[in-house]
Amino acid sequence: MSTTASVIIIGAGISGISAAKVLVENGVEDVLILEATDRIGGRIQKQNFGDVPVELGAGWIAGVGGKESNPVWELASRSNLRTCFSDYTNARFNIYDRSGEIFPTGIAADSYTKAVDSAISKLKSLEALDYECAGQLAEEASSPPKTPIELAIDFILHDFEMAEVEPISTYVDFGEREFLVADERGYECLLYKMAEEFLFTSHGNILDNRLKLNQVVREVQQSRNGVVVKTEDGSVYEANYVIVSASIGVLQSNLLSFQPPLPRWKTEAIQKCDVMVYTKIFLKFPHCFWPCGPGQEFFIYAHELRGYFTFWQHMENAYPGSNILVVTLTNEQSKRVEAQSDQETLKEAMSVLRDMFGSTIPYATDILVPRWWNNRFQRGSYSNYPMISDNKLLQNIKAPVGRIFFTGEHTSEKFSGYVHGGYLAGMETSKSLLEEMKQSLLLQPLLAFTE
Ligand code: FAD
Repeated sequence: MSTTASVIIIGAGISGISAAKVLVENGVEDVLILEATDRIGGRIQKQNFGDVPVELGAGWIAGVGGKESNPVWELASRSNLRTCFSDYTNARFNIYDRSGEIFPTGIAADSYTKAVDSAISKLKSLEALDYECAGQLAEEASSPPKTPIELAIDFILHDFEMAEVEPISTYVDFGEREFLVADERGYECLLYKMAEEFLFTSHGNILDNRLKLNQVVREVQQSRNGVVVKTEDGSVYEANYVIVSASIGVLQSNLLSFQPPLPRWKTEAIQKCDVMVYTKIFLKFPHCFWPCGPGQEFFIYAHELRGYFTFWQHMENAYPGSNILVVTLTNEQSKRVEAQSDQETLKEAMSVLRDMFGSTIPYATDILVPRWWNNRFQRGSYSNYPMISDNKLLQNIKAPVGRIFFTGEHTSEKFSGYVHGGYLAGMETSKSLLEEMKQSLLLQPLLAFTE
């Protein structure tokens, strides 16, 4: 027997929840949200570690303090979410070499300015070129960073701070400030707050049967009359429309199949979008041995291998006395540590910390390594559109195919990669779907007449 609804939403991350909320608020009450895991939140996920809640996925509300208000900042204000201001720009002045010396401010600043200038001129020359040959020519034209400090700065610039090179809508529209979420309830409480507004909840638990957890969707079949969705446990759901909010990494994998198969323009666009893997590794220590004064929240390790345990943050601003360090790895380094044991990763991290702070520092008592790449419901951390890409790519990723609509951070034209991108994309997709539903209702009498 199958369950029916007007709209099925696949995924209960921020985009799926915001999409469902818009539908319900506009009178489409019989929605069904199918979520693969046992929780809502997706890439917004809190876990307790070393007596404090840490954010495995999104950690910052990025883009605050500008002319326009970031909608996620508004949600946070309504929930009295506890946050701390973060200043990434400090990082470039706390760059350690392998012997534990900090590079003098002048050298670091000069290298930084040089790297920004070179990135800007590269970007400008790319903009003047045809998109198809841009990547190849950029590689030929650029002189790649070579020394450990150049590699470290290249990593901060390209894997963290692109705002200084390319105007990023998040910072242009919403402001340049970033706030780290430091709340016992976790970043995910914003989703629960949203869910409370349209789903039945009791004592913080969602008890509404329009949300079904542990439902791994494997197949979406569409016909002229509707959509049939099949899950791994053999359940079958029917609806008029479906909204897919699974990540771009999931769409690139073979977890979900579509019948009839998605058209080529769609699958090609999906495969073209890069997926960024971004991993925050948490380390707990018996006591603090790193500098914790003003301007020292972030520090950098300059190594001859780009991205090798480069970017560090202490959590004393968020949770004083927590004695936790976070090191961020990306892409190939993320995949490498995901494939090895946490003990091996701990050994590597300790050796890096001993380079920076000496051999007498205490050994970490615990480590937490999230595995976003190997998580079959994520397959990476967020979408990473090529710097110079034509808007067609995003439009094709976002475009509906018949009764199948697509949402998620990767469908946000201006804010892909961010929590607010997911939030706004969910709303926008539902608005387009409502429009489509209205049109098809208007057409119905006409069709009946012609039949
Ligand atoms: P998701 O949250 O991925 O939701 C999709 C849901 O679909 C998931 O719950 C998944 O389980 C479910 N799903 C997948 N496949 C299926 C299936 N087959 N059947 C049923 N359900 C399925 N953003 C910021 O703004 N600030 C940050 O500081 C920040 N840092 C980040 C750090 C990391 C490590 C990561 C991973 C992300 C970070 N982001 C950050 C990005 C942000 O988390 C995402 O952009 C946003 O949460 C994506 O929301 P979404 O709804 O599009 O997708």
